[in-house]
Amino acid sequence: MSDKIWLSSPHMGGNELKYIHRAFDENWVAPLGPNVNEFEKSLENFLGDDVQIAALSAGTAALHLALIECGVEYGDEVICQSMTFSASANPIAYQGAVPVFVDSEADTWNICPIALEEAIKDRMAKGKKPKAIVAVHLYGMPFKVDEVMAVANKYEIPVIEDAAEALGSKYKNRSCGTFGRFGVLSFNGNKIITTSGGGALVCHTEEDKNKAVFLATQARDDAPHYQHSHIGYNYRMSNICAGIGRGQVEVLEDRVQARRLMSKFYVELFKDIPGVTVFTEPNADYFSNHWLSAITIDPQSAGINREDLRLGLQNVNIESRPLWKPMHMQPIFSNSPYYGNNICEDLFEKGLCLPSGSNLTNDDRDRISDAIFNIIKNK
Ligand SMILES: *Cc1c(COP(=O)(O)O)cnc(C)c1O
Repeated sequence: MSDKIWLSSPHMGGNELKYIHRAFDENWVAPLGPNVNEFEKSLENFLGDDVQIAALSAGTAALHLALIECGVEYGDEVICQSMTFSASANPIAYQGAVPVFVDSEADTWNICPIALEEAIKDRMAKGKKPKAIVAVHLYGMPFKVDEVMAVANKYEIPVIEDAAEALGSKYKNRSCGTFGRFGVLSFNGNKIITTSGGGALVCHTEEDKNKAVFLATQARDDAPHYQHSHIGYNYRMSNICAGIGRGQVEVLEDRVQARRLMSKFYVELFKDIPGVTVFTEPNADYFSNHWLSAITIDPQSAGINREDLRLGLQNVNIESRPLWKPMHMQPIFSNSPYYGNNICEDLFEKGLCLPSGSNLTNDDRDRISDAIFNIIKNK
């Protein structure tokens, strides 16, 4: 059996070990140190817009702190894009708040601004104004930033921008992660760059960043003994992980280019295959890092369905995966309100993510296209 082709696997740049060795040499083997500071600075430079970054142990931790800083408390309601990874929604539950799920629209697969406004109006009519909006740039595709921000501003609700999959993506030439009251990044092992596990909170004021770092380091008051007047968390990134991150940021532009080439490869591969649509930017305002390349399959015209293709690829040791199953369809969130027209349910039914790593070779691409053509020919 040939080696497995993964959906998205870590891709080191070369200098990561140098920064880890430096941390050992200087004995900064702790959740603070020069690598953490330099990693934060390099991300601030990369994103632009004068942002302030707090490096954390996970993207999930960044979402949790963003909710806390937006004042989300027990019994509050928070709007969340339904089609996403569960980590977008779980921190809402950590706070004892209730997620209110909203459908996607067909262009970007992200939160629908029309359904969003319907949801806000209806929740307000029922007596509760949502405390925050979690909007996601799924698979690196920017959501409809202007439209979503216009609705959020109209009702004065802060946006938490889940850019965990969208580092390097842009909307109207501005970096994803910089539009909301807070932005969230992830450096989990499968993301476009990794620290083996980690995340960051993107802030717009020093005060917001300092508060995040304070909460992430057990909320220790300024005193010689251990003094606490807030509940704290152990969410800071370690100086070892940040060393990996420094090496990864150096190659981030290359990784974006490589992922975008994978998307082009699939556009070319599927161009004469009826019933298959490759997920691409709706117009020139959108620049996706194409973290994952994805397609939708219309079984009537393609002659195969999403599962036929997924299982066919699995047989030749090539990983592919259905799109994120919407949160309102998940057993754990079945009691949460949902607003929309089930666009995301349809996407989940028809959609498939394909191998997208920046480390895939020409041989890998040949294997992928041979496998796909064979599956379709033998339908
Ligand atoms: C990966 C991911 C997260 C969580 O990030 P972790 O670093 O794994 O905690 C959150 N939201 C989305 C959309 C993600 O893909």
